[in-house]
Amino acid sequence: MTTNIDTEKLYKDNLLGNYGLPPITFVRGRGAYLWDDEGNRYLDFCSGLAVTTLGHSHPAIAKAIGEQAETLLHVSNLYRNQPQALLAQKLNEKAGGNGKVFFCNSGAEANEALIKLSRLFGQRKSGQEGKRIKVVCAEKAFHGRTFGGMSATPKPKVQGGFHPLVPGFEFAELNNLESFANAIDDDTSAVFVETIQGEGGIHPCEAEFLNGLRSLCHDRGVLLMLDEVQCGIARTGAFFAFEHYGVKPDAIGMAKGLGSGVPIGAVWIDDQYADLFTPGTHATTFGGTPLICSAAIATLDTIEQDNLIESVKQNGAYMLNALQDLRSELPDGIIQVRGMGFLVGIQVAGDNMAIVNECRSKGLIVPPAEGNVVRFLPPLIAGREEIDEAIGIFKDCLQVSLAEAG
Ligand SMILES: *Cc1c(COP(=O)(O)O)cnc(C)c1O
Repeated sequence: MTTNIDTEKLYKDNLLGNYGLPPITFVRGRGAYLWDDEGNRYLDFCSGLAVTTLGHSHPAIAKAIGEQAETLLHVSNLYRNQPQALLAQKLNEKAGGNGKVFFCNSGAEANEALIKLSRLFGQRKSGQEGKRIKVVCAEKAFHGRTFGGMSATPKPKVQGGFHPLVPGFEFAELNNLESFANAIDDDTSAVFVETIQGEGGIHPCEAEFLNGLRSLCHDRGVLLMLDEVQCGIARTGAFFAFEHYGVKPDAIGMAKGLGSGVPIGAVWIDDQYADLFTPGTHATTFGGTPLICSAAIATLDTIEQDNLIESVKQNGAYMLNALQDLRSELPDGIIQVRGMGFLVGIQVAGDNMAIVNECRSKGLIVPPAEGNVVRFLPPLIAGREEIDEAIGIFKDCLQVSLAEAG
């Protein structure tokens, strides 16, 4: 990679400031490690925000992308392509086999499709367009930055400056079934929640709550739509996080980890409702291209061949235990450890951003989340050695922050 590029200056001069100025320039990655433009190595427990499922430069992904690039990149959805057909079959199978799939390019777009589903469903139920449009979401939710996703995300930081938002969204308290029951009325078409809230600070649905929500939606005739954009694709030690709960949603949004680094989103919709999307009702130019679907197929095949779900289950339990032990050791530094598999949040007592920055300076990349949380999102290929290394660095940084706090 070229070394004499002043990326900081180029960023300042040419890129919108919506991300602030990112603090570091990465030039290459391999497995669970990244290298910056000064040659420093980092352990990557961010995984591009739960995206690089198989770590960096995985040979199966490189091969799939390379071969597909030499064969066929794009034809549009005016025509069929084989990778899209095969990937849809695989995802439908993962979801139970009784639905249909639509491909898009991001998590927010997957959620837009789900919100559009709720409108079509409400119209079918009420017999009238514009009726029965309410969607009940959870407090602290994050569903993306498009108008629909933003309207479903009750955070001033996300919504501020962009009003008026899409109407029809209401918010209830996560893990409080009564709160959801009270929010659902005759104008409600769907309930839409993350199985495990990610950006909001790693808050899993409790088993009793999600099972109760499933029955509640069934009884009240509203859709249960689950946002698995961050928690899906084997990240929690099950292909979909809802599998841990034994519930079956009516529709699923997914994205982040599905392509192991290529941009892809998808929705799965139960056959009872999939026919609401008749020809012409929804589309996206780049959805389901041969290139992207090939990378996603390689991701799913590798998860299967390398038994990554089992490995995340075991290593995730190991990581969670080790972090709980660290909490016992440093109770003044860690308030709570939450999560499942390789989707873990550590609610710290000190400033989470200071700890995130300190970790980076000591060679560990971890992302923050709301509520003073530091997230551990290792690539699914990470083993105990990497987990031990990450926890060692994190512990050092926590001790630095405790010492500074006095
Ligand atoms: C990241 C995320 C989104 C938005 O996905 P984008 O690809 O950034 O549009 C939506 N929902 C959840 C739960 C997410 O974590």
